[in-house]
Parts: sequence; C-alpha cells; structure tokens
Amino acid sequence: MSGNRGVVYLGPNQVEVQNIDDPKMQAPDGRKITHGVILRVVSTNICGSDQHMVRGRTTAPAGLVLGHEITGEVIEAGEDVEMLRKGDLVSVPFNVACGRCRTCHEGHTGVCLHVNPSRAGGAYGYVDMGGWIGGQSKYVMVPYADFNLLKFPDKDRAMARIRDLTMLSDILPTGFHGAVSAKVGVGSTVYVAGAGPVGMAAAASARILGAAVVMVGDFNAERLAHAKAMGFEPIDLGKHDRLGEMVAEVVGVPEVDSAVDAVGFEARGHGGGEQPAVVLNQMMEITRAAGSIGIPGLYVTEDPGAAEQAAKQGNLSLRFGLGWAKSHSFHTGQTPVLRYNRQLMQAILHGRLNIAEIVNATVISLEQAAEGYGEFDKGAAKKFVLDPHGDLAKAA
Ligand code: NAD
Ligand code: ZN
Ligand code: ZN
Repeated sequence: MSGNRGVVYLGPNQVEVQNIDDPKMQAPDGRKITHGVILRVVSTNICGSDQHMVRGRTTAPAGLVLGHEITGEVIEAGEDVEMLRKGDLVSVPFNVACGRCRTCHEGHTGVCLHVNPSRAGGAYGYVDMGGWIGGQSKYVMVPYADFNLLKFPDKDRAMARIRDLTMLSDILPTGFHGAVSAKVGVGSTVYVAGAGPVGMAAAASARILGAAVVMVGDFNAERLAHAKAMGFEPIDLGKHDRLGEMVAEVVGVPEVDSAVDAVGFEARGHGGGEQPAVVLNQMMEITRAAGSIGIPGLYVTEDPGAAEQAAKQGNLSLRFGLGWAKSHSFHTGQTPVLRYNRQLMQAILHGRLNIAEIVNATVISLEQAAEGYGEFDKGAAKKFVLDPHGDLAKAA
C-alpha cells in the first residue's frame, strides 16, 4: 500500500481528489483496532446521499474524505479477524456496525449503538456518522470486519459481474429494503417516487418481489426515458400535480398497494421549488387504506440550506392525519444492508438481477470523480462507479 488518494469535500459544490493518509488500524477516537481489515478499493460509487453533503445541505465539514459504497480486496487483516484472508474480495455494507450491541443483535445494523458517540448509526465518509474515513479512495480501513464484510465466493466470477455487485454496498439493498418495507409481494401495484439510482433499484426490487406493475415518478425526462426502457411505467410529474390521476391511467384506480420514497428531503414540488414533505404527502394520498410506505429517501435533523425556517430543524409540513385515517404503515431510516446483501448477491451471480443495466452503471477513474459528481448533480440517468486501480476497466 502506498500513495493513497481520495475524494475530499472542500465546500459547497467543490470536491477534489487529493493525496490522503494511508488507512490505519485505528478508530476515529484514536483507539487501536484489531478487528479491522485494510482494503485495496476495487470499486466505489457516488451516491445521492453524498450529493446532499456536496450541495452544502448538511453540516459536513470541509476536509471530509467521502465514500460509503465500497467493494475491495483484503490486503491486511487485524489479529482478531478470523473469517477473512488476504486476497478475499468483499462487499462493504455502508453501515459501520459493531455486531455486539443490542440493535446489531436484532439485525438493525443501520442504527448500531457502538460506533458513533453522537447518535445511533455509523457510516464511512459521512457527516454525523461517527468520523469513519470514506472509501472513495485507493485504500480504506473497515472495522469489525468479520461481522460487516460479505465475501464473494469466487473471485473470477465476481469480477465478471463486478458492475452489478458494486451496488450491494448500498443502493440495491436500499431499494430492496424500501420495497420490503412497503410490503411489495406477488401482484402488488407499486409507485416509486424518484428515478435516481435508488428509485431504479427499488423498482427492480419490487419486480423481483413479484409486483404486477411498478410506476416510477420524476420530473427528469432523461431518467424517465431510462425507467421506461427498463420496463417500468414512467410517471411524468411535470405534466400536472394530480398524481392520483396519472396512477389511475395505469392501474384504473387512483391508488397503489405500496409506495416507496426514493427522493428524500430535497424533494421538488410541481411548481419547481423545493417542498421537503411533498413526496411523503403524495404517498399518503395514493397509497390504499392499510397499505405500506417505505421511505429510504433521506431526511435530516438539520438542514442549513432549507428555504423555510421550520425545515432548517428538519420539521416538515406533513399531513400525517391522512396516514392515520388510512391506517398506513411507514418505515424509514438507514438500510440495514447486512439483512439483504447475501441474497441479492446470489440473485446477481445467477443472472436474476441486472442491476448495473437498470441503474446504468457508468465506470470512471478515481481522478475523474469531480466530473462524475457534477454530471450526477445535473441529473444524468447514470450511477457513477469509480475505478481507483483500473480493475473494472481491465475486467470489461
Ligand atoms: P438522486 O438525487 O439521484 O435521485 C433523486 C431523484 O428524485 C431525482 O431524479 C429527482 O429529480 C427526483 N425528485 C425530486 N423531487 C421529486 C418528487 N417530488 N417526486 C419524484 N421524484 C422527485 O438520489 P439517489 O442516489 O437515487 O438517492 C435517493 C435518496 O435515497 C436520497 O435522499 C439518498 O440520500 C437516499 N438514500 C438513502 C439510503 C438509506 O439508507 N436510507 C441509502 C442510499 C440513499
Ligand atoms: Zn449511498
Ligand atoms: Zn452495534
């Protein structure tokens, strides 16, 4: 290991690839770690969650090394690591989880109680997530490696599908979690808000869970065209603001069984301006009585860039009474990736889930990261995958 480089957040709309320190077997508070591994990063994706920080919509500090969607090869293992060896190819769940606390025991690895002194839940390269160094870099350290890492059973077969498998670190389990929490099953009618990578992953997940029809709503024409090409029903929210009518054109009634919010707090209203609660309110409107709503879209407790005063503290104008009246179920929060990544890996390895094509995985070099961020921010119908050592270019 030498010459580490990584994507560094410098301030609103500014990221740069810089020389950064080589990873150490050390926790953010300086404690020595014996349960971690050092990875040579094979692929690492840019996420809509990164964009919230890069747009200046969080309290992320300048100097933060970004990156929570990591796949890599073990090059060094701490003395307490028992299940992994040098050379293993692994997927890293974006959650940092200890495997030892109450919520980890329950399988709620998105809200581990032990890896972040300021709140429940840890992640790599993310504001308020415990200070774990990000992995949009050449090398990174992963703690509690035996618990967190998913090892691919066969390296050559994995490299042949690496553009799909790279989605296991976050967006595929996240879309799947959205669909599962919206209780999608055989014959379900489904509305997914947002045709970004998470929305497309939710749509793909709804399909393998047996949905009869999956509608994907957005304002972005390029993304809607891609959703249509992938076999989903595009809903062009730019047409008018009566979502129920557009749903009825597809399924005959203005309601669905299940809805998934893959947008989050930077949601746009029909008028063009931001309305952080618009998606949540629309989902309550179109979800049938006793239906379920999955909310992987991210909501914040502080939004310094919010237009309204209340939203600066994460307070939303939510019509919650409507959800109450219809007995809706809601589920939100960070995805517990470990609950789903092994099954989804098998679906990919056995050709059941072409997620790379569905999210339009687009491989670029680490040095091109700033361009990738810029293009993604403009709404390109692409999921950018960084290739720090040129391994994906070689595998293609
Ligand atoms: P993205 O920004 O690429 O996609 C969001 C899409 O929503 C955009 O295409 C945008 O045009 C569209 N949109 C805006 N307002 C809308 C509205 N009112 N109705 C429908 N669509 C609307 O982001 P992404 O990478 O796809 O991620 C989506 C969300 O999921 C983000 O908030 C991200 O932070 C979150 N996320 C959560 C988790 C988790 O663990 N829960 C994990 C990953 C991502
Ligand atoms: Zn992510
Ligand atoms: Zn824990």
